[in-house]
Amino acid sequence: MVSSLFRPRGLAALALACSLSSASAEISLLPPLDLSSPALTFRLQPESSNERGVVHVTLQQGERARDVAAAYGVGAAELGVDPDRPQPAGAVLRVPLRSGPQARRLPPGVQVYRARAGDTLEKIARRFQMSSLALVSANLERQSLDDLSIGEEIFVPSMSQGLVVRLKDGQDLLQLSRYYGADVVEVARVNAINSPTEVGVGDYVLLPGVQATRHMNELLERRERAQENERRREALARYERYVAYQKGVERRRLQAKYEAQARFERYQRWLRSPERVALQEKYDRQARYQQDLARRAQEKAAALAQAENEKAVTSELQDSALRTPTGVLRRAAFHGGDVSWPMRNFRLTSRFGERDIEFHQQFFHGGIDLAAPYGTPIYAATAGVIHQSGHGDYGLNVWVGSGNAMLIYGHMSRTAVTSGQRVERGQLLGYVGCTGVCTGPHLHFEVRIDNTPVDPIGLLP
Ligand SMILES: [Zn+2]
Repeated sequence: MVSSLFRPRGLAALALACSLSSASAEISLLPPLDLSSPALTFRLQPESSNERGVVHVTLQQGERARDVAAAYGVGAAELGVDPDRPQPAGAVLRVPLRSGPQARRLPPGVQVYRARAGDTLEKIARRFQMSSLALVSANLERQSLDDLSIGEEIFVPSMSQGLVVRLKDGQDLLQLSRYYGADVVEVARVNAINSPTEVGVGDYVLLPGVQATRHMNELLERRERAQENERRREALARYERYVAYQKGVERRRLQAKYEAQARFERYQRWLRSPERVALQEKYDRQARYQQDLARRAQEKAAALAQAENEKAVTSELQDSALRTPTGVLRRAAFHGGDVSWPMRNFRLTSRFGERDIEFHQQFFHGGIDLAAPYGTPIYAATAGVIHQSGHGDYGLNVWVGSGNAMLIYGHMSRTAVTSGQRVERGQLLGYVGCTGVCTGPHLHFEVRIDNTPVDPIGLLP
C-alpha cells in the first residue's frame, strides 16, 4: 500500500491529490479553521469494490465519529455510533456516501438544522451564536428571512463561515472561486476536496470568507416591503370593518324608525277598529252599572238605617223576644240553619254600616270586621257551598252560599277551600290576612240575604 501524508498547499497539491485519488491513499487534513484543537488525521479512502457507496474508516486514538462524518460530508447519525464519544483506536467506521440522482455533497462542518415552529433565520443564527449575515450566506436559496416551514433544512456552518453555493451545470470549483475572489486552495481545504472531480453539479461547496451582503440586503428589503404590505392590508381591513359597522348602525337606526312608525299605524288602526269601539262601549256600560250599584246600595243603607230608627222606637214598646241587638234583622229572615262565629278569638273593630275608616266612608260597610293575628284560622259560620275562593272584592275572599244567604269572608292570607266544594259549619275556610283594601289583619265577614247586606250580628249567637 502506497502511503502518503501531506497537507495540500496550492494548486500543485490539489493536482497531486487528484492524481492520487484513484489509488489507495491516506491523506491527512486539518479540520478547517478550527485552530484550538489538535490536528486530526483522517485517511480518506476510495470506495471499496465489493460495497459501492460505502467507505471504511479506521479510527486513530481520540478521534470522534462526528469528525469523520464532517470530513466525509455525511450526517453524524449515519455512522451508527455515538458521534461524540471517542472510539477505540483501530475501530473501523462504515461511512455511507450518498449516491444516485438526489446525492449531494455538503461541505465539512455544515450541519443541517431542521426549522421548528416560530423559527426565523435571525433566531436560528442567535441560537448558533453567529450573525444573520453568516447564516444567510450559507442559505442562498432562502427567499425570505421569515416564513420558514417546520422541518425545512437550514445549513449551519459550524467550522468555517462563508458562502455555501450549489454547483450548477457548467460551473466548477475553480470558476466559482475566481468569481467570488476566494483562494482555490483554501476552498479545497475547507471543503476537504482532494480532486476537483469530487464535486459536481448539485453538490454544495463552501467559499470561506465570502459574505452574501447583497442577498441579505435584498431579503431585508423584501421583508420591509412585506411588512408595509401587511400594514396596508390591516389598515384596509380596519377601514372595511368600520364601513360595515357604520352601515349596520344606519340599518338598525332605520329599522327602529320603520318599526316605531308601523307600531304607531297599527295603534291608529286599532283605535278606529270595531273591536276597540265595542270594548270602549263595554267599559262605559260597566262603569255606569257600577255607579248604579253603588247608588242603590247607599239608598238601601239609608232606608235600612231609617227602618232601624223606626224599629228602635217601636221595639221599646214591644216584647223583646225576637229583637236582634242591632234591630236590623230578625233571625227568622234567614233560612240557612245554625250560624256560629267564624273565629274563636278576635276583636270586633268595625260594625255593620260604620264609617270609621276611609274606605268605609266611600263605600257602605256591608259587614263586620273581626281583627285577629295574621294566620288565625277562619271557620265556616254556616254549612253551605263554596261559590268563589280566590281574589275578588275583598282581597283573597271566600263566598259561601247557604240557604237564601251568601256569606263573604274577606282579606284572607290563604284560602283552604275550592269553588264548588260543600262545607259544614265550623269547617276551615282559610286564614286571616290583609289582602285587598286593608289597614291591618282582619276578617271582613259579610252576610247578604237575597242579595242585600244585613248585619251578621243579628244572626250570630
Ligand atoms: Zn270590612
